[in-house]
Amino acid sequence: MKPGKPNSAHLVDVEKPAAADVSGGRGVLVEVFRVGACGTDREINNAEYGTAPDGEDFLILGHENLGRVVEVGENVTEFAPGNYVVATVRRPCGSSVYDKIGEQHFTTDTEYFERGISRLHGYMAEYYVENAEFLVKVPNALAEVGVLLEPLSIIEKGLKQASDIQERMKVWRPKTAAVLGVGNVGLLAVMALRMRGYAVHGFGREPRDGYLNAELCEAIGATYDSTAEISVEQSTEKYGQYDLIFECTGFSPIIFDAMQSLNENGILLLASVTGGDRKTDQVPSDKINQMFVLGNRAMVGTVNAGREHFEMGVKDLALCEAMHPGWLGRMMTHKIDGLENFARAFDILSNAGKYKAIKTFIEVKRPGRESPV
Ligand SMILES: [Zn+2]
Repeated sequence: MKPGKPNSAHLVDVEKPAAADVSGGRGVLVEVFRVGACGTDREINNAEYGTAPDGEDFLILGHENLGRVVEVGENVTEFAPGNYVVATVRRPCGSSVYDKIGEQHFTTDTEYFERGISRLHGYMAEYYVENAEFLVKVPNALAEVGVLLEPLSIIEKGLKQASDIQERMKVWRPKTAAVLGVGNVGLLAVMALRMRGYAVHGFGREPRDGYLNAELCEAIGATYDSTAEISVEQSTEKYGQYDLIFECTGFSPIIFDAMQSLNENGILLLASVTGGDRKTDQVPSDKINQMFVLGNRAMVGTVNAGREHFEMGVKDLALCEAMHPGWLGRMMTHKIDGLENFARAFDILSNAGKYKAIKTFIEVKRPGRESPV
């Protein structure tokens, strides 16, 4: 697509990337199996943001990816042809200290280098080449659900930040969590928290009956409540205050409700990108301030993820498949066959309610060969 030009997504022929002779013998050639599509892709196609690589007038979209290694450079020891891999998204091309120490997901630069989003081509392609440093191995048994790893990595980073921050207390044994918004990212948060043994309460606007996302919450041992019937704050009368709240709705006023629903010493994780200019003046600021001060509560944002968060995600996907076989597959509601049908992905993303879509993804090409273990 052409950044800055709405609805300019199109197919282009590009040269197959040269195999593994990049990155000092650390290059890996990957054949793409599936690419997830999400609101970020839709917003880039709407020309809300997105930047082409320097010297080029188009950006290859796609950041949620899963592929299979075809060829490796001479200094790659950790991957072999046939392995499934997911590539991380942000690259340390900026000038901040976090880029320099490999923690570019904490960059303080305002210009990002992100594959499929900003300044670097993405994965909606038949092949890509990447430095082995930025690839994470996915077991063959997770191939059908591995494309969920990138969105899950954002959740894992949030949970890692929560546990790092909560070390301030020496002892923190959280029991209950609320997840606000149970779209595809929220459902992954419900899953990751269930895998850690939390009693999880999911919230969404939709009525419960007939709502697949609510059914998935309950199928994994969480509850679901519609905020049309009960506010998050009111729900604490039923469930108690929450030790951890994960906000994934995209509706910013709800964070004030969440702040008032947090248990003492609890932590609120914010994961929604809200580019609008919504304001709210119905905020009981004295009460919220008092709760945070006297109750040692904390609130932190989470965006992007480093490779350790992808690695955490692989473990949760494996545990979830073992404990609830098929649950992750049920999230993958809309498969689009072939890159040539990309326009259907934007149609589904723009009308997710109508299509009842949770995860929409393009199957670029199903790998034929069986891979070594
Ligand atoms: Zn995404």
